[in-house]
Amino acid sequence: MTWNEVETASREELRALKGERLRDTVRRAYDRVPFYRERLDEAGVHPDDIERIDDVTRLPMTTKEDFRAEYPRGLFAVPDDEVRRIHASSGTTGKPKVVGYTDGDLAVWREVVARSLTAAGVEPGDTVQNAYGYGLFTGGLGVHGGVEELGATVIPIGGGQTDRQIDLLRDLESDALTCTPSYSLYLAERAVERGVDVRELPLSTVIVGAEPCTDPMREEIEERLGVTAVDIYGLSEIIGPGVSNECVTAQDGLHIWEDHFHPEVVDPDTGEPLPEGEEGELVLTTLTKEAVPVLRYRTGDLTTLTTEQCDCGRTMVRMDNVTGRADDLIIVRGVNLYPSQIEDVVLEFDAVAPFYRIDLRRDGALDTFELTVERRDDAAVDPSTLGGRIADRVRNVVGLTPDEVRVVDPGGVERTETGKVKRVFDHRE
Ligand SMILES: [Zn+2]
Repeated sequence: MTWNEVETASREELRALKGERLRDTVRRAYDRVPFYRERLDEAGVHPDDIERIDDVTRLPMTTKEDFRAEYPRGLFAVPDDEVRRIHASSGTTGKPKVVGYTDGDLAVWREVVARSLTAAGVEPGDTVQNAYGYGLFTGGLGVHGGVEELGATVIPIGGGQTDRQIDLLRDLESDALTCTPSYSLYLAERAVERGVDVRELPLSTVIVGAEPCTDPMREEIEERLGVTAVDIYGLSEIIGPGVSNECVTAQDGLHIWEDHFHPEVVDPDTGEPLPEGEEGELVLTTLTKEAVPVLRYRTGDLTTLTTEQCDCGRTMVRMDNVTGRADDLIIVRGVNLYPSQIEDVVLEFDAVAPFYRIDLRRDGALDTFELTVERRDDAAVDPSTLGGRIADRVRNVVGLTPDEVRVVDPGGVERTETGKVKRVFDHRE
């Protein structure tokens, strides 16, 4: 089932629609945002030069640094009285990225989230417990609007309050839960401590987002909560959650709602577009945004695209689950690795819980790499041999042997109840 007809439009129809919308977007950005006018003039591209969607590659790219440099409203394309809502990214490093929404933008947002929920298998009449944070972060209110648009019931509990989350899952018989993958596992663990078996509850779907979710992590969530887990993707610079969503039919990549957001994948080093199927950095262009149109935004997220026909009937391009960010790349003793690769290894071991941390230090001129994993409560294993086996497996997968693999007791790796979990602690600077 789809939410809009356009989700199954032919590729030709989509291309035509996207070409028209790109023209309008570039025109709007050029006429109304001095930043874009300057960039486009520098690149020697005029809005009249844009005819087809493929012309997108002629446009200059936008980065998160541009958002920060234009803080707070430099990228806005509408007068203040047309802005209905403001969101902003957390400003842990530098200034926050501020975004605005017109009435039209909010309507698009509700629509794409309603599509996403439909793709995830949520139906009108269902109850959705929304455990994304409310406030300036786009997760909470973004999902919230889409649930209402769909005609389902939203429980706006927000992040944290785990005991209450468990009570409400049980008492209000929530059908779906939206949260980060790490939080869903934390919740499952807390439920066990309280003697509640989440698998026995009506909950059937967990929609995970805001953090990378590898396939083994997804399996872990599905098993521990007795649910189907599907991935939602988005970022505030583009709109928030609802840029793309996995369909429950195939669970094989996230359909990008490309009548609103045009994707490209580029080489993270050179910015050159890569052919379909090759992994690189996701770049997104908004096609209908009014308040803050965005041209070729470098997301930092690594993925691949495919236009192969999906079993669900949707024709919209699919992206792989994002399992790494260009920014997350760790270089240890000259070896490149992503935390998601370590996560895959950790989850291969049944005796180990899905929580881990990586500590990087510098010992003289040499980097050291320490991995901490947590033994499962019920696992009868010898920690000394388990650590060695994990170290071997890490060496086989990433080509680097950890200096130490520490196996700690259950609960020994720190959990986070709200926000994104931190796995990598780099003490080298
Ligand atoms: Zn599909």
